[in-house]
Amino acid sequence: MRLRGIISLCLGAVFLTGCNTMPPEPAPSLTPVAAERSPKAKPSPSEAAVSVAGATTVGHNPPVVSHGSRERQVVALTFDADMTEVMLKNTSASFVNVKILDMLQERQIPATFFITGLWAKRYPEHTRRIAAENRFEIANHTYKHSAYTPNCYSLPQLPRTELTSDAAKTFEVLSEFGGNQTRYFRFPGLCHDTAALTALAPLGVTVVDGDVISGDPFATASRPIVDAVLSQVKAGSIIILHVTEANAQYTDEALGPILEGLAKKGLTPVKLSDLLSRRG
Ligand SMILES: [Zn+2]
Repeated sequence: MRLRGIISLCLGAVFLTGCNTMPPEPAPSLTPVAAERSPKAKPSPSEAAVSVAGATTVGHNPPVVSHGSRERQVVALTFDADMTEVMLKNTSASFVNVKILDMLQERQIPATFFITGLWAKRYPEHTRRIAAENRFEIANHTYKHSAYTPNCYSLPQLPRTELTSDAAKTFEVLSEFGGNQTRYFRFPGLCHDTAALTALAPLGVTVVDGDVISGDPFATASRPIVDAVLSQVKAGSIIILHVTEANAQYTDEALGPILEGLAKKGLTPVKLSDLLSRRG
């Protein structure tokens, strides 16, 4: 199961060949987009960003969370929307699982979507649909699902000098869709080190891992996905699933039994921002 989980984090890797051999470009200067509220600070235009879920102090390495409070009987369903440049070129495959969106909306289930910039560009209509649903929220899964560290499974690695601009560009792309925008960020493969966290410091984000790895990419049936989730989940869990149909084909089939299993355990799905809220 552990191996399955590890493999599952490498979604998209089979579509990838070679390495990024482009020379690194200098990172652009970035305007801080979030600031921590100080009791004595005067309101500024950037202060509006304070209320954005997941926003943290600009200039500090971001916190990394893998679950919420274990005291509340709630969990967060998170769906990664991976899109590499190789996947983007594969126009014959669908990397959006509409059945998941349908089921979540029909059953009025909250969810948080970690979207790559390239996924939003390929599927603007589905990104708009996610943004238009108040039970959903939008988070950052990098621009093109490249690794932010060395040796992240078989994902190609971004040059260190491009990490900040890659994450910033993704926020820019996603912000155009409106809806429940957040400053939550998830690394491809969950791979991060101190340098990767430092690269995100200018952006005022919260890094979100997860404590329930469903193994849905490359699963050959729905049952192992259901079993993986229901055997690991507990109060406060962050569940990692994928909304990329072609390489996570059974996620929609697993979702119904997962929701029923959560209900039997007395666990209610909430948005990630609600799970991580200190309120209640
Ligand atoms: Zn991913």
